[in-house]
Amino acid sequence: MKKIGILTSGGDAPGMNAAIRAVTRTALVNNIEVMGIYKGYMGLHEGEILPMDRRSVSDIIQRGGTILKTARFPEFKDLAVREKAAQVLKIYGIEGLVVIGGDGSFMGAKGLSELGIQTIGIPGTIDNDLAYTDRTIGFDTAQNTVIDAINKIRDTSSSHQRVSVVEVMGRDCGDLALYAGLAGGATTILVPERKYTDEEIIKTVMDGRRQMKHHNLVVIAEGVGNSHEIAKKIEDVSGIETRATVLGHIQRGGAPTAFDRVLASKMGHRAVELLMEGKSGRVIGTVKGDIVDYDIHEALSVKRPFNEKLYQIAMDLV
Ligand code: ADP
Repeated sequence: MKKIGILTSGGDAPGMNAAIRAVTRTALVNNIEVMGIYKGYMGLHEGEILPMDRRSVSDIIQRGGTILKTARFPEFKDLAVREKAAQVLKIYGIEGLVVIGGDGSFMGAKGLSELGIQTIGIPGTIDNDLAYTDRTIGFDTAQNTVIDAINKIRDTSSSHQRVSVVEVMGRDCGDLALYAGLAGGATTILVPERKYTDEEIIKTVMDGRRQMKHHNLVVIAEGVGNSHEIAKKIEDVSGIETRATVLGHIQRGGAPTAFDRVLASKMGHRAVELLMEGKSGRVIGTVKGDIVDYDIHEALSVKRPFNEKLYQIAMDLV
């Protein structure tokens, strides 16, 4: 292996830069050239590719976002577009490719590996929605961002004895709501993996009021429904002033936590090792603290059951 490429794709996540740094420096230390591919698969298709050296990745381990930029490029589902991208890689002499992104990006990586490009995926998404790995890069930072926001909302809501509904990201995965809800002391946690009736939601708020709680915090995952509508229903039925806050893109930004930096460094390092071992079509994960790798297809077909135990703990501690 003489030359590899690296790109970030799909939604950005804090810690992607730490992974770019780890891949670049591990490759360079092993005398492998590194090419940075800008704007995900779009930049690959258009040939937006520049060489990287040790200094290209200086001073980025602590920065959110991705220095390689990212993009959504649905055209990559088209075989002819992927074939052109594979041709671009050949022209640049890039023998191996590291893709940092979520499940969509992994589908693109799988498509490239089927065209003979040695490809390794690193999970970078704040959603933690890749079931084959215990953690994705960015999830820990996003949890801490949500908790910070909850703390601030709690100050003002307790003063006014309001109910606050806080909507967090996660698409169809309730992990961010569950973990941040538990850590933020939520009275109600609504996730897409569980069904709720309006009556149940309102009952928890009324129970809180009966227990003389000054503040009721409802954390809701974006996949559950419209948080403003839920807030209105709570207010209409309970008579308690209720405000919804959609945290939105604030959850994607910020300096990565130490956990995410270490995870990204380990995964980036392993990605280059796998390329040097001649592996392709694999994705890296972490299981019980160990760094592991799986076939992309196998990894994407894993369904992780919802963490009922953690949900029960959160509810017992209300
Ligand atoms: P994420 O990687 O965060 O899940 P997306 O689902 O938007 O984000 O996917 C990122 C990019 O991966 C897409 O814009 C597209 O370029 C590529 N991609 C997604 N799905 C496929 C697919 N089925 N085949 C090939 N490429 C895909």
